[in-house]
Amino acid sequence: MEVKKTEIKLHNTASRKKEVFTPFDPKDVRMYVCGPTVYDRAHLGNARPVVVFDVLNRLLRHVYGDKNVTYVRNFTDVDDKINARAAESGREIGDITAETTQWFLDDMAALGALEPDHMPRATQYIPQMVAMIEKLIADGHAYAAEGHVLFRVRSYEAYGKLSGRSVDDMIAGARVEVAPFKEDPMDFVLWKPSSEDLPGWDSPWGRGRPGWHIECSAMAHELLGESFDIHGGGNDLMFPHHENEIAQSCCAHPEGQFARYWMHNEMLQVEGKKMSKSLGNFFTVRDLLDQGIPGEVIRFVFLSTHYRKPMDWTAEKAREAEATLWKWAQACEENRKSFDASWPIEDEVVFALSDDLNTPLAISELHRLYSRWRKTDDTKALFLLFTSSEFLGLNLQKFYYESQHPESAQIERRGAILLEDEEQYLLIERLVEERAQAKADKEWKRADQLREKLKHADVIVSDTPEGSKWELGPNFDPSGLEDEDAWE
Ligand code: AMP
Ligand code: ZN
Repeated sequence: MEVKKTEIKLHNTASRKKEVFTPFDPKDVRMYVCGPTVYDRAHLGNARPVVVFDVLNRLLRHVYGDKNVTYVRNFTDVDDKINARAAESGREIGDITAETTQWFLDDMAALGALEPDHMPRATQYIPQMVAMIEKLIADGHAYAAEGHVLFRVRSYEAYGKLSGRSVDDMIAGARVEVAPFKEDPMDFVLWKPSSEDLPGWDSPWGRGRPGWHIECSAMAHELLGESFDIHGGGNDLMFPHHENEIAQSCCAHPEGQFARYWMHNEMLQVEGKKMSKSLGNFFTVRDLLDQGIPGEVIRFVFLSTHYRKPMDWTAEKAREAEATLWKWAQACEENRKSFDASWPIEDEVVFALSDDLNTPLAISELHRLYSRWRKTDDTKALFLLFTSSEFLGLNLQKFYYESQHPESAQIERRGAILLEDEEQYLLIERLVEERAQAKADKEWKRADQLREKLKHADVIVSDTPEGSKWELGPNFDPSGLEDEDAWE
């Protein structure tokens, strides 16, 4: 008998309505989200779409099965902002993009975001972009002029439909570049020439580089096909980026539909203005982490506002989030022994997310579970709080351990082992504790044996006035930790 799946409803920008989500193929649900341009640390606003679509990714995987969902998020690693950064710093472009890409991945992992299934880099898909541009020219949707290739906006009748504007309104409202080689001011660049000092690839139109919009169309097509289910990004991308993606993709592959559901998150603001690099009113995710604000706290603050509402980051919200997480984490930690792993996650939390990602409602369901436990001592409520938090990407156990060891610069690596292998983490804790006890009991030989064993695995133990501390050395290898029982 087929089990009925949870019904997901999503607000579709294309129809301006909340719609029941029906994938093309429930065994192959496909989502594309526009990723960052890699030339600098991600600011807090950049993290919002990452967290929003991470929640959606988790929900889709829960409903359709982990293996039946493909999530793609790109890295834009060819862009004039990157070129400018390289010119001003004297560094190689490849060094800047590689470093920034890794920063982005580390910072987003600290916010509990799972890595997408594919993270294509634009520079690895140049042949696909060139092929798509050639097809657009052949079909009359694009033209080459003075080393450039431009998309002929008037050749695509539905242009502007996503954001609900006509081409004439757009011309009136937008600051469009009126280059002499353009047939129409709205036509946008698919390819542009590169001088010798700039990154460039050989093409039928000379040495050059792609425009920004074509990369998403080419990568989405390559990895997800002509029609896929969900396309996401911040609402600042709706026009022109997403309008242009639609125009290119639908003209190059008229047999497909490109994306069926369009989802846009609202902006993170500072005093009523979008947080952005160009306005200079930004701080980075790393700034907050370095101030000792845990990633779970940042995530919790994000989830407390619905993704289609603008939100402000405030220190007060962060303090409240931390107090709540601490209260929950401590209760779960103290009662872990009575948890029964066969209990499921809370349906109400899944239902809240299924209603257009209602994360504030999901959080209030978590509060409700905590109150139920306080009132009735029902450990199942606490367990549901624990697993449902994890489903939302809030790992209470990791939060608990990291809050207890804020002094350690090794928190992330240790957190990573905890996430990957909790038993291994607990084993190290236990060995360190046993050694401290052996020292207190003046059993020096045993204490030395334990220190040797830990050292062998490259776990470095140091004795401080507050007790024994440990951190992982660069050659951490846990294989020797378990195979003796000298300390049993
Ligand atoms: P960018 O690197 O500026 O292209 O932005 C990468 C992603 O971050 C895009 O999905 C943007 O829509 C999103 N984004 C940029 N600024 C903000 C903000 N202040 N609030 C929310 N999302 C943003
Ligand atoms: Zn894009």
